[in-house]
Amino acid sequence: MDRSRRVAVMGGTFDPIHYAHLLIAEDVRRRFRLPRVLFMPAGSPPHKGDDEVSSAEDRYIMALLATSNNPHFTVSRLEIDRPGPSYTIATVRGLKSEAGEGAQVFFVTGADAVLELLTWHEPDAILDEATVVAVPRPGFDLDLLDETLGARRASKITVIEAPLANISSTMIRRLVRAGESVRYLTPRPVIDYIRKRGLYRPADPSEEPLQETTS
Ligand code: ATP
Ligand code: MG
Repeated sequence: MDRSRRVAVMGGTFDPIHYAHLLIAEDVRRRFRLPRVLFMPAGSPPHKGDDEVSSAEDRYIMALLATSNNPHFTVSRLEIDRPGPSYTIATVRGLKSEAGEGAQVFFVTGADAVLELLTWHEPDAILDEATVVAVPRPGFDLDLLDETLGARRASKITVIEAPLANISSTMIRRLVRAGESVRYLTPRPVIDYIRKRGLYRPADPSEEPLQETTS
């Protein structure tokens, strides 16, 4: 197998990206000796309503900021530039056709995400066309894979042990909204960007909406 044709995809909403995402991606990269991990922010996440999610550009920029110091990590615009909902199977196929014959895509999922695989578009095709790697996540039980997905599907999933970190984007958004510190949950440049853009803070009703200039 030509190792350069192996790529891991770390898909997510990344609203915002955090240390558990980075920890998992690096663990998978090391374990499978992959030359690169592609972080793939979802354009319009099919599982989440539009208004509760930060803009694709903000999520993309935060992913860039968080990964810029790792030469093996890149951030892809594939899903955010594609109109319509982001389907994993379309991403897997797109990457494989781009990389050519013999390409292998490792699709990395946390325990919560993989247990919901049947709600995804064409789950069986995903299992056939990508190597789905499941990592543990506190609060979710990967022993339920068999009973949730069926033994045949579960047997196609590669479950690995990765370091556990009980961090979620939801938790970061809540802390920011409450004015609490999010230090050590996500890299400093992401924290600075959240602050600069005023993300996750309730809109201040006393503030006048910005006038658009037409010149
Ligand atoms: P949110 O709380 O908004 O759902 P999140 O922390 O779950 O955010 P996502 O962008 O939804 O982050 O997740 C992207 C991928 O990373 C998913 O496969 C998810 O299971 C995985 N993941 C996120 N946080 C962890 C974690 N702490 N441990 C293991 N996997 C995780
Ligand atoms: Mg999530």
